[in-house]
Amino acid sequence: MPLPLRKITVLGSGTSVGVPTIGCHCAVCTSADPRDNRLRPSILIAYQGRNVLIDTTPDFRTQALRARIDRLDAVVYTHAHADHMMGFDDVRPFNFHQSGDLPIYAASGTMASLRRCFSYAFDGVERNTNVPHIDPRIIEGPFDLFGLEFVPIPILHGPQTILGFRFGNAAYLTDHSEIPDSSMEFLRGLDVIFLDALRYKPHPTHSTVERSIKTVEALGVRRAFFTHICHDLGHERAESMLPPHIRLAYDGLEITVE
Ligand SMILES: [Zn+2]
Ligand SMILES: [Zn+2]
Ligand SMILES: [Zn+2]
Repeated sequence: MPLPLRKITVLGSGTSVGVPTIGCHCAVCTSADPRDNRLRPSILIAYQGRNVLIDTTPDFRTQALRARIDRLDAVVYTHAHADHMMGFDDVRPFNFHQSGDLPIYAASGTMASLRRCFSYAFDGVERNTNVPHIDPRIIEGPFDLFGLEFVPIPILHGPQTILGFRFGNAAYLTDHSEIPDSSMEFLRGLDVIFLDALRYKPHPTHSTVERSIKTVEALGVRRAFFTHICHDLGHERAESMLPPHIRLAYDGLEITVE
């Protein structure tokens, strides 16, 4: 069966503190270029009338309003850092006008963190009140979402192993400092990849521009977009130094994958 046409919308392309960063008046944080305004990192994958969200950032409400997301069919989590999960509670409006519980997918450790932070949504006690109505599903291997297979890709985020995802010939690998060889094998033949590229300087838990360029070259991916970007990178200047098949993601960017 041919893969469904997918539209990927970048809801946020910024690092954990966002850009502009509180209290910073650097050239990027004060830039007039809208592409230098970066909310916390997340993408929406739309296909066949379905919307699958990767991560619920602290900016999720703003992102959903801005991208006019009218329905949500599943949320898939990469890991349990605040910049990827703290918008969890803002899935409630989707419960108001959609029937059934919202499926949320996470590795067991990430699900445990979600449960700890938002126990009221998991314990069943407040079912009749205005809490997120969710259907938690532990990721233990590839899973199908509405006819599209999602393959979890283990990646190292400093000492922690988190998940990236491949869906068809596209992949989203946020927060990582290293991609194990065993995971690189799952990333062959991609059309599009999104990669963490925090900044130029090395970081103990994140990839850099240089490192992610090497990943793109090693995989031979046709198109790559860097994300989870901090204020060290001004969009226009940073992009001018990249090869044409590697671009910086920016909030609101939409790409189509066939
Ligand atoms: Zn992050
Ligand atoms: Zn700044
Ligand atoms: Zn993280």
